[in-house]
Amino acid sequence: MPSHDVLIIGAGLAGQRAALAAAQAGASVAIISKVHPVRSHSVAAAGGINAAVSVDDDWRSHAYDTVKGSDFLGDQDAIEVMCSEAPKEVLHLEHIGVTFHRNDSGQLDLRAFGGASVKRTAYVADITGQAILHVLYEQLMKHHETVDRYEEWFVTSLIKDDSGACVGVVARDIRTGRMETFAAKSTILASGGAGQAFKPTTNGLICTGDGIAQAYEIGAPLMDMEMIQYHPTTLVENGFLITEGARGEGAHLLNGDGERFMEKYAPNKMELASRDVVSRAEQTEINEGRGAGPNKEGIYLDITVVPKKRTLEALREIVNIGKDFAGVDITEEPILIRPGQHYIMGGVKTDVDGQAPGIPGLYAAGRGRLRLRARRQPPRRELAARHAHLRPPGRRARCGARPARRDARGR
Ligand SMILES: Cc1cc2nc3c(=O)[nH]c(=O)nc-3n(C[C@H](O)[C@H](O)[C@H](O)COP(=O)(O)OP(=O)(O)OC[C@H]3O[C@@H](n4cnc5c(N)ncnc54)[C@H](O)[C@@H]3O)c2cc1C
Repeated sequence: MPSHDVLIIGAGLAGQRAALAAAQAGASVAIISKVHPVRSHSVAAAGGINAAVSVDDDWRSHAYDTVKGSDFLGDQDAIEVMCSEAPKEVLHLEHIGVTFHRNDSGQLDLRAFGGASVKRTAYVADITGQAILHVLYEQLMKHHETVDRYEEWFVTSLIKDDSGACVGVVARDIRTGRMETFAAKSTILASGGAGQAFKPTTNGLICTGDGIAQAYEIGAPLMDMEMIQYHPTTLVENGFLITEGARGEGAHLLNGDGERFMEKYAPNKMELASRDVVSRAEQTEINEGRGAGPNKEGIYLDITVVPKKRTLEALREIVNIGKDFAGVDITEEPILIRPGQHYIMGGVKTDVDGQAPGIPGLYAAGRGRLRLRARRQPPRRELAARHAHLRPPGRRARCGARPARRDARGR
């Protein structure tokens, strides 16, 4: 029976990054994936990764935007860790080989993303996930003596011992059908989301929530499973994602009457309001009969306002997606989109270190891991006061006292 210090279920960005850290710490590691690692769904991540790396930015501003973007429901301890460590992590990724885009003066280029108060998204064209995934895969090869890979192995269940600790998994080698038991001191679930439970979804067929279900089966509590993110721009035909990078580069959203309707819903941020705000605005336009397309079932995303040279450089994948899946040249005409399920914020309940309470030896990382503690959060006014120190200098609290008009969150 294979036995390791650390057993990681999933070889997407979360699983491979965890494997690299565990290997560097000297642990013996096994990483199991039902698909070849670089086909993990992280390969679809397009637009980029947020981190306050600019000299004009501050991780506290990133944290504030994230807390605000979550409508003050986000796990603020986790947000603090994520935002304060993100700049170091992005630079680390670059140092190990991720070719983040640089501007003409040689600095890391950053693009605008929804809900961010400054340009904060580091990117590799619109293939950021693929670029990072390949670099991590390559880096893990350096640790081949201590990292065993089980590629195209399907984990069917987690194992608990008599004391209630998670001590490994049962998995099937997909190619041969052979079943095997794997023992481990620590098991990390990094098995992704459950997008296939929804339609339309931007998620591929492999996103079936296996890890969430398997953890639940051995008694791990789940949390915030109702917290589902809808992305504003997915192809009407099939739910394919058109990256937020398109709006970050300046694309407009138009209803069937040709109006830039975000002016009504988020006059300051317009198309770059947070995803829930833009998705809701689109759906309101559609529901009220102002949709675009033959059956008024969508909204136009107009990328023609972005300079063509820039579109071909920074959004090349969606140029292909437009042509191949909607028959539209996005540099010449608007493309029909609608909101689609994109991200599951809930999952296995963990503490800020990823440990599942009550089940020693079980950890969760990445998607499918708890990010919200909605029900335990104190009221908005109290939270606003408690996190006043996270607010960038000169910015007024907006969550306690709601302005009477417009968007209550100032978007
Ligand atoms: C189209 C699209 C675009 C996106 N763009 C961005 C972006 O620009 N920026 C951003 O930050 N995020 C983006 N995201 C979100 C981001 O891609 C995900 O949050 C992230 O990649 C999830 O990584 P993960 O490692 O948790 O899961 P995944 O990459 O989904 O990996 C899951 C792993 O678990 C394995 N697995 C699952 N079940 C089993 C099982 N039973 N047995 C064995 N192995 C199993 C799979 O084989 C896989 O290796 C995007 C998502 C989509 C869908």
